[in-house]
Amino acid sequence: MSKNKVLNRIAKKRGVHFVSGKIIGGKDFLKTIPYIQKLNESGLSTTVDHLGEFVNSKDIAKERANECIHTIQMIKDKKLDSHVSLKLTSLGLDISRDLLIKNMVNILDEAEKSNVMITIDMEDATRCHETIHLFKQFKESYTCVSTVLQAYLYRSEQDLKDLSTYQPFLRLVKGAYKESPNVAFADKKDVDDNYKKLIKHSLEYGLYTAIATHDDTMIDYTKELATNLNISKQQFEFQMLYGMRNNLQSILVQDGYKVRVYVPYGEDWYGYFMRRLAERPANIAFAFKGLTKK
Ligand SMILES: Cc1cc2nc3c(=O)[nH]c(=O)nc-3n(C[C@H](O)[C@H](O)[C@H](O)COP(=O)(O)OP(=O)(O)OC[C@H]3O[C@@H](n4cnc5c(N)ncnc54)[C@H](O)[C@@H]3O)c2cc1C
Repeated sequence: MSKNKVLNRIAKKRGVHFVSGKIIGGKDFLKTIPYIQKLNESGLSTTVDHLGEFVNSKDIAKERANECIHTIQMIKDKKLDSHVSLKLTSLGLDISRDLLIKNMVNILDEAEKSNVMITIDMEDATRCHETIHLFKQFKESYTCVSTVLQAYLYRSEQDLKDLSTYQPFLRLVKGAYKESPNVAFADKKDVDDNYKKLIKHSLEYGLYTAIATHDDTMIDYTKELATNLNISKQQFEFQMLYGMRNNLQSILVQDGYKVRVYVPYGEDWYGYFMRRLAERPANIAFAFKGLTKK
């Protein structure tokens, strides 16, 4: 559904104003800056993501890279407390390896100059191997690059071990894509157990770990673990999506934890929106109201 072009066009036309300032920032980065500033003023850091994935034109992939470079420059100029998150498919992963690497090198050169962390989001399982392989390659030349591991994948425990030698800033998530039982745990309990295992190992390996979840159980587990293992609050942060669990975000900040909010922006918000709906059907009423109201 998130790949349906017609629905995407309708949703884009009707919905952007409805979701803006609620689950995404603005329709472009400039319009997103006030939302970031407001979050920063409340003690929340951010990471911004220009929405749009599965790009299959070289020109669009290049445009995406330029947009990303411009965003990095604006973050620096406006002194925003923000990282940038991106998806390799939006920069040419499905088109050509050379194109993707060229785009990423241009982005990472700017990121390194501006001291802005770039997180490579993890997409579906078919792209995981390539993403990790490329991440390792980039990490050899750049410090301002990080990536994500998904607890639903069987391979993530081993990936974490392999990546630990690179000492990355690492984001851990449960995983957002529909995956086959050949590669991923199907049962929620197994995913949760593996998530706890990854959090523990990542902190024990000494990695700066971003625990990206809205789940109280995982957040409480992390807090308790950090206390028991005597791990400083400076070694980890919580990350949540823009518009989700705002109260909890504030409470964590008051309690001295670092919290980073993932702020997507841009016209191409439909796929992101559908994934959030699939995760939390309670939002369906909210969504339909927004899409049918002119
Ligand atoms: C900052 C960030 C970055 C991410 N990056 C990626 C990525 O690169 N790749 C990827 O595959 N996935 C990514 N994800 C998505 C992630 O994989 C999960 O799909 C998503 O976070 C839902 O899982 P959960 O851990 O939040 O909790 P779930 O397992 O969905 O929910 C567990 C419990 O948490 C509570 N809860 C969950 N959401 C809410 C809510 N909105 N309001 C109130 N209570 C709630 C409920 O009690 C629920 O039962 C990212 C998520 C975040 C927060």
